[in-house]
Amino acid sequence: MFDLSRFLLLANDRCNLRCKLCSESIPNHKPEPDMTVEQARKILKSFFETVDHIGKMHISGGGEPFLHARLPELIEECMVYRKQFDEFIIFTNSTITPNQELLDTLGKYSDVITVRMSCYGLYPEKERNLQQLFEANHVKYHMIKYSGEDQDYGGWVDYGDYVKYNRSEDELKRMFAECATKRDLNGNWRSRDGELHICTRSQRGMQLGLVPRVEKDYVDLLDESLSVEQKQEKIKAILTADYITACDYCSGDYGTRDKRKRYPAAEQIEK
Ligand code: SF4
Repeated sequence: MFDLSRFLLLANDRCNLRCKLCSESIPNHKPEPDMTVEQARKILKSFFETVDHIGKMHISGGGEPFLHARLPELIEECMVYRKQFDEFIIFTNSTITPNQELLDTLGKYSDVITVRMSCYGLYPEKERNLQQLFEANHVKYHMIKYSGEDQDYGGWVDYGDYVKYNRSEDELKRMFAECATKRDLNGNWRSRDGELHICTRSQRGMQLGLVPRVEKDYVDLLDESLSVEQKQEKIKAILTADYITACDYCSGDYGTRDKRKRYPAAEQIEK
């Protein structure tokens, strides 16, 4: 049995908010076209051929997934693999009103899908309206407090700009071992285009050309020349690596227990 903790299908890079500490650096870059249903189908097929079981299936945007016009179809594509995951989580910034088709799809799978509502308090009325819509349509949801005192996780982490820090090997090994990506999540596995990365910083950094493209740091799920066993070996090699290239382009603060390194969530960049 080849297990991973989680898998995030990154549906789109578009967002209606402009968060200063966006972990995906969305406000600073032009979005690429949204993932198509056909792309999602190929990625999911290869992923679930390679991995027997995951704990958590996510659809996430680098940006806001509720902006994806074909989100109900993406959900249906994921549900083909229902037996291979335990939970299904969709995050939203709680500012977009879903259409009836999306509400129906979320309600239909409420035994497994939970919508995690990040509640930043920027538009409290929208958050309340969304909650009411979910209640009325039998959508399972969980509200996460990201405003005022006692923010979830103590607030957000600043991953920093993608500058190269030129850290020593020992520093990089320590960072990777102590990072929540590895220590707590056993990999925050994700794909936007078929490349499977262990960390947002690696996936997004390479997508933007801000982290050097190093082949050993990702698995090309769509590479038909690789067998399932070869893909599994590559995944294991990433999990057991001393560190990944992206660690030298990262603050390393993800997972820090130092509360001084947490910041108010979703602070907006002035237009
Ligand atoms: S790049 Fe940063 S967030 Fe990713 S594993 Fe390395 S230290 Fe952790």
